[in-house]
Amino acid sequence: MEQPLLNRSEMVIFQPSSLKESLKILNENPDSVIMANATDLWPRIRNGEVSPKKILDISGLTSELSYVKKEGNTIKIGALVTVSQLEQESFLNEDRFSAFKDLISKFGSPQIRNMATVGGNVCAASSSEDFIPLFLALNAKVKLSSVDGERYMNIEKFVIGKRKINRRANEIVTEISFEDPGLGYRSAFEKIGRRNILIINLVNLAVVGKILENRIEDVRIAANRVKGKIPERAKATEEFLKGKKLDEQTLNGAKKMFSDELVLTDDIRASAFYRKALLLTMLERLLKRIGGAK
Ligand SMILES: Cc1cc2nc3c(=O)[nH]c(=O)nc-3n(C[C@H](O)[C@H](O)[C@H](O)COP(=O)(O)OP(=O)(O)OC[C@H]3O[C@@H](n4cnc5c(N)ncnc54)[C@H](O)[C@@H]3O)c2cc1C
Repeated sequence: MEQPLLNRSEMVIFQPSSLKESLKILNENPDSVIMANATDLWPRIRNGEVSPKKILDISGLTSELSYVKKEGNTIKIGALVTVSQLEQESFLNEDRFSAFKDLISKFGSPQIRNMATVGGNVCAASSSEDFIPLFLALNAKVKLSSVDGERYMNIEKFVIGKRKINRRANEIVTEISFEDPGLGYRSAFEKIGRRNILIINLVNLAVVGKILENRIEDVRIAANRVKGKIPERAKATEEFLKGKKLDEQTLNGAKKMFSDELVLTDDIRASAFYRKALLLTMLERLLKRIGGAK
């Protein structure tokens, strides 16, 4: 099928070289669409899904927004960190961050991992974005910067709808951060699509928790869909699990609770019935994994 032509002569692309300059341009041009490495945005422009007149290209800000660091107990990831860069971070070798390794191993292709940014993933805000459930399970915060200053928002409040984020028109997401849950915690992530690589997920699930001597001290569960089409925490299932022994009875109870909590709808990719069956099986598998089963 012929692609719609892009009329680039009608498109203004700003390419600032510093964050300060970017924030000034965005403040003066709040109708600009922010572009990081464009793996999500450019296909949407080509498909005619979005037709921005102005683009603020922030991909040149790597010296300011491409870092991973730990300050105190907080892990901070700059918005322009790519999936490949994150993969090199030594903190991912700790059991409590295994979910990142699970996620990255199934993320796109090597070419996409080299380009896709963590900030772009969170801001794309669709149920196809894999980092959002993991950041929800880690209680992550999003840092929003503008000419007026900086503010932090829990990711739960940031992703508010399908492709809807809680960002003011003059703000750029500059960082995603979360508290290191600490020793004793483990995490796991799984996604299932129609094939093994280059998958648009049908479902994904992230679990972060602390299970000591087979008792669930803490658990956080998030999926790309729980009550609608945006990633969310499964809080009723979390509450059900806390304090219980991780045994067959608890797993069955948790699956029943999760099944009641999931309000899914059929769509072109899969039926609600199939998605639910996958999520229930994945929940059991991931809980067993963070409980120590291989
Ligand atoms: C072939 C292919 C495979 C893919 N596989 C996966 C996969 O396995 N898992 C997955 O999760 N995703 C996947 N994606 C989707 C995409 O690669 C990711 O969402 C990526 O992380 C987006 O990052 P980006 O830098 O390319 O964002 P961009 O495309 O530049 O931007 C994405 C959106 O976020 C906004 N935005 C970007 N950065 C900021 C910022 N700092 N502040 C405010 N708004 C911002 C943009 O306006 C746009 O709406 C795939 C895409 C393709 C084309």
